[in-house]
Amino acid sequence: MNAEQTASEDKIVTTVCNSHCGGICDFKVHVRDGKIIRIEAVPEEDGRPGMCLRGHAYRQRVYSPDRLLHPLKRTGPRGSGEFARISWDEALETVAGEMQRIKAAYGNASMLHFCSMCDPHVLHHVLAFHSLLCGFGGYTAPWGYISCEGNAFAEGVTFGKSSRIGYTPHKPDEYQEARLIVMWGWNPATTEMGSGVSLSLARAREKGARIVAVDPRYTDSAAAFASQWIPIRPGTDAAAMLAMAYVIIDENLQDRHFIDEHTHGFDKFKEYVLGREDGVAKTPRWAEPITGVQAETLADLAREYAREKPALLGSSFGPGRSAYGEQYHRMAAALETITGNLRLDRYAPKPKDFRFLPPFPFQPNPVEKEAPLRWNAIPSRGPSVNSSARVNVSSFANAILEGKAGGYPADYKFLWLSNTNYLNQLGNINKAVKAFKKLEFILVTEQFMTATAKFADIVLPVCTFLERCDLMPPLNVFSSKRRNFTVLSKAIEPLGESRSQLAICQALAVKLGISGYPDQSDEELVRQMVAMVSANEKLKTEGTPKKEPAASTKPQLRTPSGKIELSSGIAEKMNHPDIPAVPKYIETWESLNDPLAAAYPLQLISPHFKRRAHSQFDNLPWLRELQPQAVSINSRDAEARGITEEDMVRVFNDRGEVRIPARVTERIMPGVVALPQGAWYTPDENGIDHGGSANVLTRSITSPGGALPSHTALVQVERV
Ligand code: SF4
Repeated sequence: MNAEQTASEDKIVTTVCNSHCGGICDFKVHVRDGKIIRIEAVPEEDGRPGMCLRGHAYRQRVYSPDRLLHPLKRTGPRGSGEFARISWDEALETVAGEMQRIKAAYGNASMLHFCSMCDPHVLHHVLAFHSLLCGFGGYTAPWGYISCEGNAFAEGVTFGKSSRIGYTPHKPDEYQEARLIVMWGWNPATTEMGSGVSLSLARAREKGARIVAVDPRYTDSAAAFASQWIPIRPGTDAAAMLAMAYVIIDENLQDRHFIDEHTHGFDKFKEYVLGREDGVAKTPRWAEPITGVQAETLADLAREYAREKPALLGSSFGPGRSAYGEQYHRMAAALETITGNLRLDRYAPKPKDFRFLPPFPFQPNPVEKEAPLRWNAIPSRGPSVNSSARVNVSSFANAILEGKAGGYPADYKFLWLSNTNYLNQLGNINKAVKAFKKLEFILVTEQFMTATAKFADIVLPVCTFLERCDLMPPLNVFSSKRRNFTVLSKAIEPLGESRSQLAICQALAVKLGISGYPDQSDEELVRQMVAMVSANEKLKTEGTPKKEPAASTKPQLRTPSGKIELSSGIAEKMNHPDIPAVPKYIETWESLNDPLAAAYPLQLISPHFKRRAHSQFDNLPWLRELQPQAVSINSRDAEARGITEEDMVRVFNDRGEVRIPARVTERIMPGVVALPQGAWYTPDENGIDHGGSANVLTRSITSPGGALPSHTALVQVERV
């Protein structure tokens, strides 16, 4: 499939990088004698190079000496990393036997499964596992996007549905037209490599757009593009945005026509902003001590944002990964709305559900059949995602430790983790370690012996995307412009005894006696899907059957009023004190006013890191050379602690401790420290992490709307 021969007899295979990074770059993979000798970038039509440093290093990942190439069975205690090689047959017999035993003893709901959500393919992804587990009688699935649940919730209550679960969804023409671009907590130079956003920002700046960065850090994107950096305390973004709304309303800078035509609840929102609801006017002076941003700076930004039209507010998912992160996203939507900067075509009906192709059509989960909806359900997300039988993705440790006694729908005994270094990537690792030790059986399907895999009873070796075929649907979460199905071809055979995720599911289906599970090879299934799509023009352009009407440019809002709701009927119905009808600033737990701040006076944030995609690539020597893992600390905070550049420091709180070198810099505001997320948890015998994993320090708690509060944690830093 999609292979060409060169004069030197090398085979060149085309595929698309599958790294869950926010980009989907085309690869040309050069293969000689069955071995990858080079991966070549395919330049995009718009001129960007089309591959990042992680893509260039992918060959090292494929041939890493650390690749798992055989099934493994745990021989030492959980977490010890002691395993013995076993045959596939023994591994599958063990897994199937444990699944049957646990189902018989505790029921299907006791079985948790999580597959990282965003690799936008059909055959080796969440639907393959879902289909298998539904055929087995059901399982407990997670709800909530790790990256962006705060945004999904905010858009749900404001617009009735979410327009983006991938990255900030501005179209290229929005950058070209913008006179002002506000990068709010947004660092696309690091987080959206391969997506073309950096090129769009560069071109916008060349055309004269002024770019402002609002962020606790002076990021690479701020350094490259911004003419102004506004440092802001983590977790206070909604307060800053409310102060901007105050100036806009007080000075009558709002877009009255847009508000009258498209919104519901502006008057209630205005009452809160001006302080008529609670006696507190949300002025820039009110916001200054909360946010750390001077009142004049906020007022100037508000006036500029309201007047310099069109203005683009790039409100990143990052600030939304905080306690009450939903309120920041709701305020960003409110600012875009009251100034008329909101692009309504973002909410036009779109063709979708291209994923639900045979062999994996949509299938309901039997475990969710009778369960009522969650109290914080967003109607447009459907009964399955909204089912109270599900567990929030960040709450697995709590659910396992507390079970039914703690109000969860079941007592959990079995955990299957696929495509995810879950233990490393969710809050409070030390708590998760306790939870994982309580489980009766853990299955991990993986490429490397990650921190998570070390806790498994059986580890099944999975091949990389270069060793299998798949089909990528158009208009998926990472690409709003790729309008065709894309075939992802296999470049080489799976290394060692590794298998694809689909092949593992197929083998388990046989062992479990599940009938009807597809048994063809991935190559054959891709061929069948391509034939089906080619023969079906409607499918090609509109996706698999769906309830929404055909594509149009008119917005389709699913709110009770049918308008943009600045006072939300959906939120009001939830009747929860922390989910107000109008967007509000709610002070986070572990803010600087928390009594804990006496012992732990620094706010920890855990941003993305250029050399990793989440926790992927952390173990690759080529990438490790580029940037060491270190905790960034402002020179003022460092000096007060006697810390100098590259000193080994302990970063700690009541939840755990990380030992890591210090990076002393002016590029982070005083009072805040940054430990890039994704470094692999590497504890010593005392449980002190030497890998630099930020989640040793974060909490395993969910914001009321489901946002993952990974940027809400107080810590102390001391020289070792
Ligand atoms: S930007 Fe993402 S998709 Fe593109 S090469 Fe890098 S890791 Fe792969």
